[in-house]
Amino acid sequence: MYALTFGGKEIINYSNIADPILLSSTDAIIKISLAGICGSDLHVYHGRETGLDQGTVMGHEFTGVIEEAGKDVKKFKKGSRVLSPFTTSCGKCFYCSIGMTCRCEKGNLFGWVQNGHGLHGAQAAYIRVPMADSTLVPLSNDLDEQKALLLGDVFSTGYFCAENAGIRRSSTYVIIGCGPVGLMAVIAAKHLGAEQLLAIDFVPERLAIAKQFGAEPLNASGLNIKEEILNRTHGRGADGVMEVVGSPQSLRSAIDILRPGGILSSVGVHTAVNFSFSPGEAYDKNLTYKSGRCPARYYAEKLLREEVPQRYAIEKIITHRFSLAEGPTAYEIFDKKLDNCIKPVLMN
Ligand SMILES: [Zn+2]
Ligand SMILES: [Zn+2]
Repeated sequence: MYALTFGGKEIINYSNIADPILLSSTDAIIKISLAGICGSDLHVYHGRETGLDQGTVMGHEFTGVIEEAGKDVKKFKKGSRVLSPFTTSCGKCFYCSIGMTCRCEKGNLFGWVQNGHGLHGAQAAYIRVPMADSTLVPLSNDLDEQKALLLGDVFSTGYFCAENAGIRRSSTYVIIGCGPVGLMAVIAAKHLGAEQLLAIDFVPERLAIAKQFGAEPLNASGLNIKEEILNRTHGRGADGVMEVVGSPQSLRSAIDILRPGGILSSVGVHTAVNFSFSPGEAYDKNLTYKSGRCPARYYAEKLLREEVPQRYAIEKIITHRFSLAEGPTAYEIFDKKLDNCIKPVLMN
């Protein structure tokens, strides 16, 4: 099959490699329909995440159809439509039982092979999914494929971020970063009842979508964010801040604009060694800090059941569609934010 593989810093190869095969009776092989390219794939692309083996198939966001199921896979058969969260989960361990599927004791991240161990990714024609019954989520025929793709990571993550911010009516919330996850957090925060919701970014096209989704856009270029938010909140600061960027600067801004007793909800993937605020500042702010990887398996099921993605045009963030063969170019366009690219997907 063909796949996009990691070839070293800033090298993505369109490679012809062996088809995946069942390695366990609970595995399934999925024929990929849509695969997303995610902001966290860019960390790998730039070599910021160390340890990934060269030749690893990239990507962790996908929808598809069961091509082959092991004999112990009970929920799916050849032809079943599925979406997948970005990690596998067993459905039985302590963490799965409390809905924290992202920390399953047997779970693994797709698109991460290190020293020969781990799982290949989804930017390919086919993928092997371990623990298929408890990892994959069945898709009804009437659900749009693009919505399903976003449920596997960015919409679930945006929702998780908004829920963690403890949204209440008549409070003021700020989202820092209007990339795919930030824009999904806008929809989620509005859905959860946020009235005053400000969305900060530098990119006008992204701010325009944030506005369409119901946020008040704030362009950070040339703006003193702290002053602006304090002015709008009787000098107090925001009741909740959602940080989706993952940089020390964005975390610093979040603290600066949060009121004492507020909640800082962070889903940005941070790689810094230290916090950009001190324990003393956290104390003085009576800070509640929530962060971490979204349990996407749990949220995908919950949000489908509550018909949340069905109600909103979440797929609007998908600005670019490429064939798998165009993958290396897609990475470049996404990375450099060329052509107003917000979220690219690969179609098989
Ligand atoms: Zn992702
Ligand atoms: Zn588990």
